[in-house]
Amino acid sequence: MPGPQNMNHKAVALLSGGLDSNLAVAMVKEQGIEIEAINFQTIFGCCKDDARKVAHKLGVSFTVLSVQDDYLNRVEKPKYGYGRGVNPCVDCRIYMFQTAKKFMEQAGASFLISGEVLHQRPMSQKKRDFETIEKDCELNGLILRPLSAKLLPVTEPEKAGLVDRDKFYGVQGRSRTKLLELAKQYGIEDPPSPSAGCALTSPAFAKKVRDVFSHHPNYNRWEFEILKIGRHFRLDRKTKIVISRNHTQNEYLEALHPSGTVLLISRNFGGPHALLIGDASEENRRKAASCMLRYSQKPLPDICEITLKGNGQTENLYFAPALEAAQRELEELRIV
Ligand code: SF4
Repeated sequence: MPGPQNMNHKAVALLSGGLDSNLAVAMVKEQGIEIEAINFQTIFGCCKDDARKVAHKLGVSFTVLSVQDDYLNRVEKPKYGYGRGVNPCVDCRIYMFQTAKKFMEQAGASFLISGEVLHQRPMSQKKRDFETIEKDCELNGLILRPLSAKLLPVTEPEKAGLVDRDKFYGVQGRSRTKLLELAKQYGIEDPPSPSAGCALTSPAFAKKVRDVFSHHPNYNRWEFEILKIGRHFRLDRKTKIVISRNHTQNEYLEALHPSGTVLLISRNFGGPHALLIGDASEENRRKAASCMLRYSQKPLPDICEITLKGNGQTENLYFAPALEAAQRELEELRIV
């Protein structure tokens, strides 16, 4: 690990595409530091395209890193707990900084830059959280947070005189006033609003994530990808129905329904697609069809034609619209 004596003028920045990381990179770059920016794709929300544009404007190289499947283990069993959803923010930041550290070592850089602002987010931006993250990642003194630097211990690049601490700031809290002022100063036009953040912070989404953890101990990445699509209904321990919400989601399901699932497509009425995951018994196919009809445009024809595709086979089935009671029963199976 670099110490003050072997620091160099190269750093790796975590760039989300938001205002904070944009400012952090601009501030360090103007001090003559060569910067490589990285952006994380986490399954549960990302802003890769924004980050790419920001990197381009800042004139720094840009790499997107996807989290690996072991990230899901951290979501399932976080060492430092959850926020209001199933967002394990401290563990998540540790994962990102550990990955960034490997990238830094490979790139021959000697420190990291983060746009984090002290006390801006309750779960991972307290002083204690910063200390925990640095200690767990063995990155003590190697994470420079220029927006709050004056409120934090002096880092190695500051000690080594690579950057001038006096040119950094002491921003803290949730207010954006100072950040917007800095945006003007650094010529950042149309500074982006804070993003909606990752889906893990949403209590509704958290229900779907918990459902996967409790029913599929050998989960895979796709089971989490699909949580971003549609309404979900749990039929039994291994069976679930997903009902799409719009045309884009229909296309997604058509393109990405894996083997072992059955896709239901409406033929003679305007309805969503349904994806049956798990036990595709006749009874469960009927339930999936009933779910589809529940969310279809009314009035429905007397006989609804539905194509089922799955496991290399296609067949057409015909259903009478489900009775109210059956639809109510299905509503009770809804996860969210
Ligand atoms: S909000 Fe999501 S992406 Fe951000 S630190 Fe928390 S878990 Fe990670």
